[in-house]
Amino acid sequence: MPKPLFAGNWKLHKTVSEALELAGAIKSELDGLSEADVLICPPFTALKPVADLLAGSSILLGAQDFFWEDSGAYTGEVSAPLLKDVGCSHVIIGHSERREYFKETDEMINLKLKAALAAGLTPILCVGESLEKREHHVTKEFLSKQLTEDLKGVDREAAEGMVIAYEPIWAIGTGKTATPEIAGETQAFIRTLLADRFDRDLAEGMRIIYGGSAKPDNARALLAHPDVNGFLVGGASLKADSFVEIVRFSLL
Ligand code: PEP
Repeated sequence: MPKPLFAGNWKLHKTVSEALELAGAIKSELDGLSEADVLICPPFTALKPVADLLAGSSILLGAQDFFWEDSGAYTGEVSAPLLKDVGCSHVIIGHSERREYFKETDEMINLKLKAALAAGLTPILCVGESLEKREHHVTKEFLSKQLTEDLKGVDREAAEGMVIAYEPIWAIGTGKTATPEIAGETQAFIRTLLADRFDRDLAEGMRIIYGGSAKPDNARALLAHPDVNGFLVGGASLKADSFVEIVRFSLL
């Protein structure tokens, strides 16, 4: 079973000084943890100062998004090589907020995925269904289509090491967490899709993490399912106490 990954997505929160305070508290609690990997994803403006603070620690740094071209006349954009340059090892791709508010399509997400892999960044590819899709019992069809399109043209070698985040949209920021049964069953299904798309070995080694109102009091039960290999945490990652408790309670 893959080693769990606990990733904090800070979204559009934290000034540089607030980010340094939070990253410092997480580092002092979780640096050197051997049972899991810990990753934080601050906003762009805080990446470099947080990278400097984390230097030499085991806490990993990721970005929340980027543009697929490496450089050029793309005002306002940030590329994979620029993220690597400031010390990022990971990048979140295809978060439902990007898909919804910034109209990112599966085609754009596929370009980002390939650009991240080519640059040596580990992508955390987010997939997940809306409440409407779940209520209409078309979650599996939807996830199958999303993964097929997002992974188009990605070869096995490149895919190794990437992370999938299952984030049911109805659970993100709503306080409604998927039950361990729903998360586990859906993530097991995602693993079968990965086995079909690549092969069994790769699918079994790939981390599939859960995101959607993960909290200290529900993390342990979710992580007990063999197909839940960690968390992408939004709201509860904005305070050191709750993020650290999610990690600690899960690993008890
Ligand atoms: C997220 O945005 O990736 C997320 C999981 O948010 P929250 O934990 O706040 O539901």
